[in-house]
Amino acid sequence: MKKQAKLIVHTGSMFSGKTTSLWRELYRMKVAGYKTVAFKPSVDSRDEDEKIVSHDNLELDAIKIESIKDILNYAQNNEVDAIGIDEVQFFPDKPSKIVEYFIKLMKKHITIVVSGLDMDYKARPFEIVKELMPIADELIKHHAICASCGEDAWVSFRKSYNEDRIEIGAQDSYEPLCRSCYNIKMKDREKNKNQISIEQI
Ligand SMILES: [Zn+2]
Repeated sequence: MKKQAKLIVHTGSMFSGKTTSLWRELYRMKVAGYKTVAFKPSVDSRDEDEKIVSHDNLELDAIKIESIKDILNYAQNNEVDAIGIDEVQFFPDKPSKIVEYFIKLMKKHITIVVSGLDMDYKARPFEIVKELMPIADELIKHHAICASCGEDAWVSFRKSYNEDRIEIGAQDSYEPLCRSCYNIKMKDREKNKNQISIEQI
């Protein structure tokens, strides 16, 4: 009998080691004899093509896709036991659709290992990760180190004044912060932002 498929979710702020953990998990499965493959969103232009590169420079070959639906097509045409998906919050698919696709894949006995940000820089949850958390078989919340005080970080603070929800390829403008350092810095950010817009008038 085939092994039962699982949904494993790695989440947390930026720089918390999510991608590294995804890589490790897939690597272990590969060593154990599983046929594994990794996917990443094509909007994620930070890395070289067809690779997932974590902050500690572990590389993993990955196929760039536009939509999670592309994974269903892949699974139709290729033998696969376990898949990894990096930066799941970047996919444009509706969260309910992604959940539907994942259930279909698991019915085919494919284990899914996902990595995704739990919150944006305003500490608002990313819907897809919020949907996946309760239905995951395994859920791991990773923590970076607060850049101000050294406690466990809670969120990715954006140093620039860009207000777009997703700012791709701008990792230098983020730092991980704990809850209390974040609240202090967000107050300053709002103050400075208003100052700048007044000066521009
Ligand atoms: Zn702190």
